[in-house]
Amino acid sequence: MTVAESDSNSGTLAVDVRKASLIYNPHEAPVHALSDIDLAIRPGEFVSLIGPSGCGKTTLLRVIADLEHITSGEVLVNGVSPQDARLARAYGYVFQAPGLFPWRTVLGNVKLPLQIHGRSAAECDAIAREQLTRVGLTGFESKYPWQLSGGMQQRVSIARALSFEPRILMMDEPFGALDEITRDRLNEQLQQLWQRERRTVVFVTHSIAEAVYLSSRIVVMSPRPGRIVKVIASPLPDERTLDMRDSAAFVNVAHEVREALAHGHDE
Ligand code: ADP
Ligand code: MG
Repeated sequence: MTVAESDSNSGTLAVDVRKASLIYNPHEAPVHALSDIDLAIRPGEFVSLIGPSGCGKTTLLRVIADLEHITSGEVLVNGVSPQDARLARAYGYVFQAPGLFPWRTVLGNVKLPLQIHGRSAAECDAIAREQLTRVGLTGFESKYPWQLSGGMQQRVSIARALSFEPRILMMDEPFGALDEITRDRLNEQLQQLWQRERRTVVFVTHSIAEAVYLSSRIVVMSPRPGRIVKVIASPLPDERTLDMRDSAAFVNVAHEVREALAHGHDE
C-alpha cells in the first residue's frame, strides 16, 4: 500500500505501535529503554508523552520517526513502516534546541530542507514565507537567528518542520528551555495551530500543565524500562484558553496525571 492510498483510507492510524521494546547496546551494556509499548494514535489527535527523565520519551519519538529501531514488536506510521513514512515526508520533527544555522537568515533556515529536496527557488521562497506567516513571524524573514528571542527561534524551527506540510508533527520538549511566560505564549499558539490545521501531534514534555493544556490524550510513562502506565483522554473542549488552567476540569486532569506518574514510580 502506498502512502497516498493509506492516506485516503480514513481508518488508518497515524501511529500504531504494538508490543514494541527497545534495548540499546544489547550485547555490551544493555539498556532496556522501552518495554512492551502499545500505542495507537488517530489522525488529528494531539498526544503528549509525559514521564520522568530517562523513561524513554525521546526514544519512542525517535522510533516513530525512524531515527531509532525497535528490538521487537511492530511500528506503523500512516499504515506503512517508519522508513517509508519518513521517505514520504509524513512527519516534521522539532527538537528541544531550535538547531538553526546562524549564517542563514530566518527565511534561509526554513527553506533549507526544501532546497535539499530540490524544489525550485521560487517554490522554496513561497513555502518558507507561508510557513513563517503561520507561526506569526512575518517581517522577520531577513533576520538572523541570533537576532531573535529563544521563543521566536523555536517558532522558526516549527515553521521549518512544517515546510513539507507533514500530517504528523513530532515535538521533543520544544519549549523546555524557555521561560514560563514565553512557554505559555507558545503553548497558546501551538494550540491554535493545531485547532486550525488538525495535524497529528506527538509531543514530549515533562510539564504536567503543558501536557494537560495541549493534549487530547496524555500518555503517562514510567521510569526505565519505559512502559505506558496510563493513557488519559482529556475531557476538556478542543478549543482552549490559558485561563482554563484554573478550571476544576483542568485541575482534575492534572491531578490524574500526577497520580499516574507517582504510581509509575512506585511500581
Ligand atoms: P527521555 O527522553 O524520557 O528522557 P530517553 O529516550 O532519552 O529518555 O532515554 C531512555 C533511556 O535510554 C535512558 O536511560 C538513556 O540514558 C538511554 N539511552 C538513550 N539513548 C541511548 C543510546 N544511544 N545508547 C544507550 N542508551 C541510551
Ligand atoms: Mg528526552
